[in-house]
Amino acid sequence: MTDSPIVRPGAVLVINAGSSSLKYQIVDPLTEDVYADGLAERIGEKTSSIKHECGGREQKIELSLPDHRAAIAKVMELFAGDGVNLTQAGLVAVGHRVVHGGRSFHEPTLVTPFVREEIARIAPLAPLHNPPNLVGIDAVTELLPDVPAVVVFDTAFFHDLPAESSTYALNADVAKEYAIRRYGFHGTSHAYVSRRAAEFLNRPYDEVNQIVLHLGNGASMSAIRGGRPIDTTMGMTPLEGLVMGTRTGDIDPGITFQLARVAGMSIDDIDRLYNKESGLKGLCGDNDFRSVLERVDAGDEAAELAFGVYLHRLRHYIGAYLIELGHVDAIVFTAGVGENAVAVRAEGLKDLENFGIVIDADRNAVRSPEPRVISTDDSAITVLVVPTNEELEIARQSAAVVDGG
Ligand code: AMP
Repeated sequence: MTDSPIVRPGAVLVINAGSSSLKYQIVDPLTEDVYADGLAERIGEKTSSIKHECGGREQKIELSLPDHRAAIAKVMELFAGDGVNLTQAGLVAVGHRVVHGGRSFHEPTLVTPFVREEIARIAPLAPLHNPPNLVGIDAVTELLPDVPAVVVFDTAFFHDLPAESSTYALNADVAKEYAIRRYGFHGTSHAYVSRRAAEFLNRPYDEVNQIVLHLGNGASMSAIRGGRPIDTTMGMTPLEGLVMGTRTGDIDPGITFQLARVAGMSIDDIDRLYNKESGLKGLCGDNDFRSVLERVDAGDEAAELAFGVYLHRLRHYIGAYLIELGHVDAIVFTAGVGENAVAVRAEGLKDLENFGIVIDADRNAVRSPEPRVISTDDSAITVLVVPTNEELEIARQSAAVVDGG
């Protein structure tokens, strides 16, 4: 076992802790080899589950996981069963995804007691996300105290958005006091995909203007000028912008007053409504895009409207970003929907020949895990599909922090 260990030294354990879930991966940041991958779900509920894959063996178990610490302890036990002792596997870092870095953090950072306190202090900016991220950091640090822990922030890539795009037209004193600005999210994915797209085009990153569409269950778009984001659709929270699986995206703030005053809903009710019961799910009952598209094909009216609203918002922002950037070299699709939903790419960029965007139907229909061009050779703007890999990006950034330190 020692001459061919499943996990080779130099790997990074990537942790993405949600409110009731824990995603993990062990990946080598240089070779890109993925040694293990897993997901614990429904943590804190009566029955939890873990899907664990290591060394080519996959296990699915149902059990009780009262909290994240129990989940991580169980995951370590599963690794031990695979013959992998995580404390002695030569991990160079644990890379934790943290959703909100607030104004304090704009680059990956080694976890120290001060950094931990700072993440806790800015938790009110992302009350649904940062607290579980912190729980994950504490639980893993307790079990792997000798491996350096690094935090990689979803907001970091957008930290230097130009003031006119990061500032809300809200009373400036109130905005300042409560740190209200547009932060942007999915930054790890936008950073990875935009770099990968420039590499694929064989162009220097700082010379390429791109529009990146991260379309997953959550969805966001960014406008990137020469490697620097100048705008993004998510804002103070990941609720703003595009229509998502269960989130409204842009909505008139007046609706909130109406729901509170007329419908008597509490702030928590409205939060749940906007975040969990709206978007595609709120419009047609399904948030899984595959089901929505199947229903559209079958002529289901609610699904057709949901798809139409989704595309309308998408095209609205594509138009905005074409103007903001002035010159665009590439439009890049990524994440579950962006990588797989042929119809979203075809309809999202339909009839834009006058703007230099021409999709090639055959290329668009190709399914592949590799980056690929889906526009015609004479399309002035190249349209690409570039699979995202947030875990690899977190692993690379974490290893770089440890190297640099
Ligand atoms: P993500 O959040 O990136 O994991 O993306 C999840 C979304 O991708 C879900 O809405 C899935 O339905 C969607 N998705 C995954 N595969 C496909 C596919 N083949 N066609 C359409 N949508 C897909």
